[in-house]
Amino acid sequence: MPKDTTKEIVELMDKPEQIRNIGIAAHIDHGKTTMTDSLLAGAGMISEELAGSLLVMDFHEDEKTRGITIDSANVSILHKSEEKTFLINLIDTPGHVDFSGEVTRAMRAIDGAVVLVDAAEGMMPQTETVLKQALRERVKPVLFINKVDRLIKELQLTPKQMQKQFIKVINDINQFINNICPEEFKGKWNVSVQDGSVVFGSAKDKWALSFSYMKEKKISFKDIIKIYEEDKKEELSKKAPLAKVVLDMVIKHLPNPKEAQAYRIEKIWHGDIESEEGKALKSCNPDGPAIFTPTKIVVDPHAGEVAGGRLFSGTIKKGQELHLISAKRSVKVQQVNIYKGQQRLIIDEAKAGNIIGIVGLKDVFVGETVSSKKDIKTFESIKHLFEPVVTESIEAKNPADLPKLISVLRQVSKEDPTIKIEINEETGQHLLSGMGELHLEVIANRIKTEKNVDITTSEPIVVYRETVTKESGIKEGKSPNKHNLFFAKVEPLEDTVYQAIKANELPEGRIKKKDNKLFDALTSLGVNNEEAKQYRYIYRDCVFCDKTRGIVHIGEVIELCLDAFEQVVNQGPLAKEPCMKLKVSLMDTKLHEDAIHRGPAQVYPAVRDAIRAAMEDAKVVLYEPLQEIQVETPERFMGEVTKIIQSKRGHLINVEQQGDRTIMRVKMPVAEMFGLTGDLRGVTEGRANFFIVNQLFAKTPREIQEKVIVKIKQRKGLE
Ligand code: GDP
Repeated sequence: MPKDTTKEIVELMDKPEQIRNIGIAAHIDHGKTTMTDSLLAGAGMISEELAGSLLVMDFHEDEKTRGITIDSANVSILHKSEEKTFLINLIDTPGHVDFSGEVTRAMRAIDGAVVLVDAAEGMMPQTETVLKQALRERVKPVLFINKVDRLIKELQLTPKQMQKQFIKVINDINQFINNICPEEFKGKWNVSVQDGSVVFGSAKDKWALSFSYMKEKKISFKDIIKIYEEDKKEELSKKAPLAKVVLDMVIKHLPNPKEAQAYRIEKIWHGDIESEEGKALKSCNPDGPAIFTPTKIVVDPHAGEVAGGRLFSGTIKKGQELHLISAKRSVKVQQVNIYKGQQRLIIDEAKAGNIIGIVGLKDVFVGETVSSKKDIKTFESIKHLFEPVVTESIEAKNPADLPKLISVLRQVSKEDPTIKIEINEETGQHLLSGMGELHLEVIANRIKTEKNVDITTSEPIVVYRETVTKESGIKEGKSPNKHNLFFAKVEPLEDTVYQAIKANELPEGRIKKKDNKLFDALTSLGVNNEEAKQYRYIYRDCVFCDKTRGIVHIGEVIELCLDAFEQVVNQGPLAKEPCMKLKVSLMDTKLHEDAIHRGPAQVYPAVRDAIRAAMEDAKVVLYEPLQEIQVETPERFMGEVTKIIQSKRGHLINVEQQGDRTIMRVKMPVAEMFGLTGDLRGVTEGRANFFIVNQLFAKTPREIQEKVIVKIKQRKGLE
């Protein structure tokens, strides 16, 4: 029987210096789940023989059948190093890029990541996207080069060739880190064999080695090859156990929560660092106000909603009153939990620096700021690398299931906030939007098998964007009672500002009072001083500026103008698709003296009309989502694969040869990508596949734009 480690875990939760909050960042199939199992086994949490075959982290039904990890679950592992025991909270970060939202959210809770790379394949698209997300949240990387047995058994490399392969992987990773890492960490966050921030081994065979460990145990590359030749890998796993070597690296090179919060808080929280809560957050103070942020909500059949996340400051106890800052509500903590694999254990209280679960935060959303103190500044919203660009409609097969389906959809969107759900109680036809075909397929499956609602789904469709490519004239909108006039202008949002919003460097939201931080950020992006002061709202990659002067009642209608702006951004004038990269300026207004004549029913349509007219004037166009993908195929199928790419409006960016594999980087419209997996497999005997690397939007080609608009309008019943 594994020994009960609960007591030890609880004691360590009070000692932040002995805690590490980490995740494993990897491309799909590189061995993350296998490694997690080996780590758990090494800590005595599951028996050694089972590790590698049990895959304890994958516990949704559909994950078992698909064999991929979708949800990030938390586990706590104990590890002894140099006479001290450490508590390692490990969050599982899924490998498929369609679920990159899960990854981003997990990153908020952790301070360090073990980047895991298959030694034979090297850095892959998902290694890049996950590492990018980690660095964006200031999560520090270390490197584990996995599947070294493949270099020996399959590729039969010599010790020299093995070293060369390692150096290539390390150089690729370091180059990538240096390119995108925050300025102050450039050069400092590189991984290196010499200092032990690189470890290599085999998760399946449960061994790992660092440079210093090789020296200490007198093991050479030659020895490792010999061990495999003589089939004595168990010996290697005894001499150099994976859990020990990897977790030693984690403890030595990844920061504890106190160290990490000292530099992470300013990136993820934009409040005043000198305030009581600012100081407590930065120093991870257990005596400060309780401040928690959920990164994952799981709906448990018994406990109800369990909010898993990071406690950044203070102490949380059962019965305590907490405030959901954005939702402006108060709730009572019913349970405080810690995780052990699938097990959720109930504990009395938890202190700052830990990853915990809380029951009782009714209807909380992921990324919310939860605090014992009212009126504190919220955390920066958790922004995903990719937006949902594929939609399908869902209906209950049996009309009697309609109420159940609505409640299930609400639950599902809480469990995975990267999907967007529009519920239509009248027609019963609900819209589900996600990041790709597979993402939607998995959600639909979950609704059917786990939530037991029989549904039918439509063919997935693409969500386009509307934007302008030039500046408009000033256009007028008149209120229905004809007593109020609004004058608006639109133009493309500057690229620097757009990119900063996308990278989460500019916080989205309404700007109520003078905000010096925002002003500085905008001016440093090249926005002139005057305009930087006129910013009122950053919403969905669009901006609203108030450029009116001397309007006495402007303060009374500005919120309504922002609402109307929001409505247009959500539904543009061309085909009611969302807008992007739009800068709307309110230039002037004539308002009725009497407030009663300028309520929402008057202001909304007038402002909407003014913005839409300006967009028409600036020749509004439809943008389509594209994905940059990496296609891999055995060389001999290259001709066939290229034909498929061309037939789907794909644009080849780069071709590379690696052994007998051809690796192509391709840009392709999402509208053409449905069924791509099947098509590629069909012409390559099942040997080609592709991964998403990046998402972008580009002008829909002129010759098809009209057709697309007509189709969207027909679908929406707008014609
Ligand atoms: P994940 O998608 O990253 O979670 O990958 P998995 O842990 O599910 O592993 C993918 C496949 O790689 C499985 O078939 C594993 O058995 C295999 N695998 C994992 N680690 C190793 C290793 O060290 N050597 C070899 N040869 N195969 C491994």
